[in-house]
Order: sequence, then C-alpha cells, then structure tokens
Amino acid sequence: MTTHAIGAHAADQPLVALDIPRRTPGPRDVQIEIAYCGVCHSDLHTVRGEWSGTLYPCVPGHEIVGHVSAVGGDVSGFKVGDTVGVGCMVGSCRQCASCREGLEQYCSSGMVGTYNSPTTDAPGHTLGGYSQRIVVDRDFVLHVRHPQAQLAAVAPLLCAGITTYSPLRHWGAGPGKKVGIVGIGGLGHMGVKLAHALGAQVVAFTTSESKREAAHALGADAVVNSRDLAQMRAHAGSFDFILDTVAAPHVLDAYTALLKRDGTLCLVGAPASPHPSPSVMGLVFGRKAIAGSLIGGIAETQEMLDFCAHHRITADIEMIDAHAIDAAYERMLKGDVKYRFVIDCAMLGG
Ligand code: NAP
Ligand code: ZN
Ligand code: ZN
Repeated sequence: MTTHAIGAHAADQPLVALDIPRRTPGPRDVQIEIAYCGVCHSDLHTVRGEWSGTLYPCVPGHEIVGHVSAVGGDVSGFKVGDTVGVGCMVGSCRQCASCREGLEQYCSSGMVGTYNSPTTDAPGHTLGGYSQRIVVDRDFVLHVRHPQAQLAAVAPLLCAGITTYSPLRHWGAGPGKKVGIVGIGGLGHMGVKLAHALGAQVVAFTTSESKREAAHALGADAVVNSRDLAQMRAHAGSFDFILDTVAAPHVLDAYTALLKRDGTLCLVGAPASPHPSPSVMGLVFGRKAIAGSLIGGIAETQEMLDFCAHHRITADIEMIDAHAIDAAYERMLKGDVKYRFVIDCAMLGG
C-alpha cells in the first residue's frame, strides 16, 4: 500500500508531495495513522545532504505521534485506537550489550533510524514521519499518555525531548546542580524545561537577545547572551553540566571555561562541519570533560514521555503547512523558531 508524504529527490531539490510505500503489517508490527510530526534540525541536515550518506528519495521526520490502526497477531501491548509515538529509531539488533542494556541507540550493529536507514522494505531505506501512515515494530512504539488536545505539542518530545532528557539524567541534573543549556531552539527549549522540572538551577545561553524573556518563561533562572563576554565571564567556573544543542560550529572553550572542576560539556548539536579544536589546557586544568550523547533508549523515551505527562510538559510549537517546509527550514537556519515547527500530517493528502 502507499501513503501520502513529502520528501526530496536530491539534496538541492525542494521537498515535494510523494506517494511512498508502507509494508503490510507483519505479526510484530503496529500500523499508525500519523497525526503530527515535528521538524527537527536533523531533518534539514539529512534532506539537504549536509551529513553525507543521504539516500533519496528522502522523507524526513522522527517526532511522530498518531493512532494505532492495525496490529499484528503477536502484538499485545498496543491495540487499535491507542495514542502512540515513534521517535528516531525503528529497529536495532536487540542482542548486543547496548541493546540488552536498553541503549538501542548505541547498538553495535547500528540502530535502524526512522528515516535514511537500510531496510528490506521498498525503496530499500526507511522513510520517516512527514507522511500519513507508518508501520513500526512493536518494540519501537511508545505509549502517549498526554491529553489528545496536546498531541501536536507532544510530537517534539520524541526527539527534542529525549535527546535532552537522557544526558540531563545521565549527568545527574537535579537539585543543587547548576546546568547550562546552549542554543534555545527545538532541543534547547526542551532542555530548559526538563532541567527546570528536574530541579536544577538552569542558565540558558542564547545568541538571540529576543529570546531572553521567553527563556525565562521556559524555566531558566538566568539567561546569558553568549555573544557578550562580560555576561559569559560572570559564570566562569560555576557549572556542573552544560548541554550544547547548537547546530553550527562554534568555540567550545567559551563553555569549558564555565565548568567547575570535574564538570562536563555534553554536545548533542551535530553541525555539518567541525567545531574549532578545543583547548587541551582548558580541560586539563580542572579535569573537565567534553562528551556527546545520542537521543535515548526506548525504555528511557517512555520514562521521559511519562515524566512529561506527569509534569504537564509539552513543546512550544508553531504549526506549519507541510507544503511550505522549505521556507520553514530557512527560518530554522536563522534561529527563528519558537521553538519547534510541527506538521499536521492529516493535511498531507490535500
Ligand atoms: P534548532 O531548532 O535549529 O536550534 C538550534 C539553536 O542553536 C538555534 O535556535 C540557535 O539558538 C542556536 N544556533 C544556531 N546557529 C547558531 C550559530 N551559528 N551560532 C550560535 N548558535 C546558533 O535545532 P534543533 O532541532 O534543536 O537541533 C540542534 C542540533 O542538534 C542539530 O545539529 C541537530 O541535528 C542535532 N540533534 C542531535 C541529536 C542527538 O541525538 N545528538 C538529536 C536531535 C538533533 P539561539 O538563537 O538561542 O542562539
Ligand atoms: Zn531529531
Ligand atoms: Zn544491538
């Protein structure tokens, strides 16, 4: 069967309406009618070939919420009508050490991404959530427990939420900890909300002075214009943990200088070209670390969704017309999103 979607045929082509194949559900599969899909900066990096290795046609989208419309005979955890989510992964080997520990995103065979990963389904690589329907193995489907009226704003939790929740939890963000969030975009605004909900003291770093008030409203105790040296120096040596979500190369020393002894700067932003090499001395004097983190495992993603439902946390979103996605990407490149674009996938047929 086919479903309506939007995607690109080449890196330098705009996204256009496509009809794409979806497999008939097998015994372990959950078929989902997609209601909403968030627009992640990774979608832009991928569809425009910025990370290399993009397979075309490319249908991005890995912040998916929708409703179950069919389940295979071996599926017991989901039934028709359930509200569900799908994030960045739709498969992994399930046998390696990482998979056995619930860290499928670090699968030694490589996780199967929701888009742009090899699959036996046509056309040979996975096609993502800018579409009306998807068929996903039961082990990679999440339960969504937020009210139905919030579903569009829940979609971004499936990537922006888990990508910030996982490192915040791993590095112990909570009461008594001073946590910085760099870049107040899709990921960063979720990072501020989640670090605040976890009980940390939160400082937002932004290049956009216009986001100052909004960042406070998201839960930041302080907001720093990262282009202002005096504002940056005022926080020198004071952070336990800094999460950097910026999608462009920049000087990391500006942030390692703000860490306490034994503090960690964790990179989740994945720019298409490298950051300038960080200063070794800036790390050695203070036993500081620069780390990275990739989304989160399936169990942790469910934990994050339930945490957000309990604390009434959703993303701040702007609904866009899917057929105007290229214009939305241009705004994203300018940092002009408060804070996540979301596509109404029901409109894709029109
Ligand atoms: P986004 O919404 O575009 O937000 C990025 C933010 O970074 C911008 O809003 C802006 O914030 C700041 N920024 C952008 N360009 C900048 C520049 N030249 N200098 C300084 N700051 C700049 O993107 P996103 O969807 O949050 O994604 C962020 C990055 O994370 C992307 O590279 C994406 O691919 C990556 N990502 C990684 C993972 C993972 O698992 N590690 C998962 C999802 C996404 P201000 O206006 O506040 O400065
Ligand atoms: Zn993403
Ligand atoms: Zn594995």
